[in-house]
Amino acid sequence: MDARLRVVIVGAGPAGLYAADALTFDVAKSVQVDLLDRLPTPFGLLRHGVAPDHLKIKSLEKVLQRIIDRPAVRFMGNITVGKDVERSELLDRYDAVIYATGAPVDRRLNIGGENLPGSVSASDFVAWYNAYPECSIDIGPLSASRVAVLGAGNVALDVARMLLISRDKLKSTDVAERALRHLRIHKPDDVYVIGRRSAAQAKFTPKELRELGDLEDVDIIVSPEDLLLSDTDSNTVAQQPQLALNMQVLHDWASTPPKNKAHRLHFRFLLQPERIEGEACVRSLRLQTMDPRDTSLRTGRQIDLDVGAVIRAIGFTGQPFAGIPHDAVSGTIRNVNGRVLSDYDGVDQEFVTGWARRGSTGVIGSNRADATEVAELVLSSAKPIRRDPHQSDLLDLLGKRGVTVVTAERWSLIDLEERKRGTEQGRPRIKLESTREMLDACRVPSRTEAH
Ligand SMILES: Cc1cc2nc3c(=O)[nH]c(=O)nc-3n(C[C@H](O)[C@H](O)[C@H](O)COP(=O)(O)OP(=O)(O)OC[C@H]3O[C@@H](n4cnc5c(N)ncnc54)[C@H](O)[C@@H]3O)c2cc1C
Repeated sequence: MDARLRVVIVGAGPAGLYAADALTFDVAKSVQVDLLDRLPTPFGLLRHGVAPDHLKIKSLEKVLQRIIDRPAVRFMGNITVGKDVERSELLDRYDAVIYATGAPVDRRLNIGGENLPGSVSASDFVAWYNAYPECSIDIGPLSASRVAVLGAGNVALDVARMLLISRDKLKSTDVAERALRHLRIHKPDDVYVIGRRSAAQAKFTPKELRELGDLEDVDIIVSPEDLLLSDTDSNTVAQQPQLALNMQVLHDWASTPPKNKAHRLHFRFLLQPERIEGEACVRSLRLQTMDPRDTSLRTGRQIDLDVGAVIRAIGFTGQPFAGIPHDAVSGTIRNVNGRVLSDYDGVDQEFVTGWARRGSTGVIGSNRADATEVAELVLSSAKPIRRDPHQSDLLDLLGKRGVTVVTAERWSLIDLEERKRGTEQGRPRIKLESTREMLDACRVPSRTEAH
């Protein structure tokens, strides 16, 4: 009998890959990992979230690819758990199941006008410029000359930077072709990054904030009144060097007179979105001013900002899938320290890591510690299940269902095709923008052809 521990990881983003790494790094541990993803490609948000101009972090793909290449790891892309294969079918075949499915859904503002054309979620906008397959957004309103970006975290900074970045700089990245074509022509005059709370409560990291100062032909506008802090905020800033650095960057910008550049990036704080106005599309944004002494209190004063597009970057959440226990408040898979609180009697084979465990906080590196901890938990507690000797291998089951699995070898063909197209234009790669194109690149017949 095969004595290896068989583990399936659902989600081949950074968290899933780091978990696969921790489980297979030491071959003596004798663990076999199947790594599933609903996309034909691995890397999750490293490929489809991280901004194309963040080349250094993007280069992590090379490191993570080495994990996929290990003999003990079997990558299977283009498989959605909950659609192509059920949770119970994984539990029947594997000693442990680790969910690393991220937090893929945008949080909503729940205000009037949110569904108007021109009101776009950050995940849709990011998916559009990062060539997420089959992503379609109405790009027309994004040609607006004035755009509001709601949120005070790094995703809001990414969105603002991508709207204003020099097109020459973008040309040498793997930004989606469709975005490159649009952004070459359209660049807003004014972009407003708007935070609901004070500047001290913003979640920016200093490096990403400071980086905006390098945007060519862009004045950064910050009003000193927007940087007023309550005593509580001032104390917090005094204790947290990251916040102090952010405040320093913002104060530097506030004291720099604008140089009449062609574009402007405005930072506004203490403004809560109340309504997106417009009939056929976004025309303006109504904001409520908040009290700097207690940022949860409204002052009663409203501001109308004349903008033609609103991009919401107020965080991400998970959604229930495949009957896996879900915590609606945190938007995560229900768990205690990475062990899923199973709703099946006697089942203790399920674990969770990454954003699906913690919610949408932390950078790529934060998922490493998390995944290592969960892998240790699996190694110390998972026991070989009593397997039905007639149970088919997952690949056979999927094959019988006509599911076209993208194996590591097939993914390498997609990768090769994207790099080849990129080389022709002096870019690292040109990403394929549809599943059909990807399956063609690895010569997989479509599901209908396969039947
Ligand atoms: C816009 C944006 C920009 C970012 N920029 C940076 C940055 O510059 N630097 C940095 O360090 N961090 C950045 N981050 C954070 C970083 O991307 C996350 O920390 C990290 O991706 C979380 O890893 P994860 O594996 O938990 O989730 P994900 O990366 O989301 O991976 C989850 C994977 O699960 C798959 N999946 C989901 N559901 C299923 C299912 N039912 N069946 C099969 N597969 C499924 C998905 O396809 C996906 O591949 C950014 C995040 C965002 C949103």
